[in-house]
Amino acid sequence: MHHWQPSITCGLVWVEEASCCEAYVLCWEARQCEAGQYFVRRRTVAGVFEETARGPYGPAVVAWRELAARHACRRRTAS
Ligand SMILES: [Zn+2]
Repeated sequence: MHHWQPSITCGLVWVEEASCCEAYVLCWEARQCEAGQYFVRRRTVAGVFEETARGPYGPAVVAWRELAARHACRRRTAS
């Protein structure tokens, strides 16, 4: 289970990879006073960004792949 919290970023955010429909986006944030951090970002129905798995690349990628695999695509099931 992933713990989601409001995504408040203070540095430059780069998009590494986006899943289908951009449901989950693997991001990297460059920080001025510490090492850059990876995290998984999603947008809620309210249009607010939330993030999870903040930290080093490995665990963030694992979380992103797991979440992306769970994405139930409306575009794919509609036809
Ligand atoms: Zn999709």
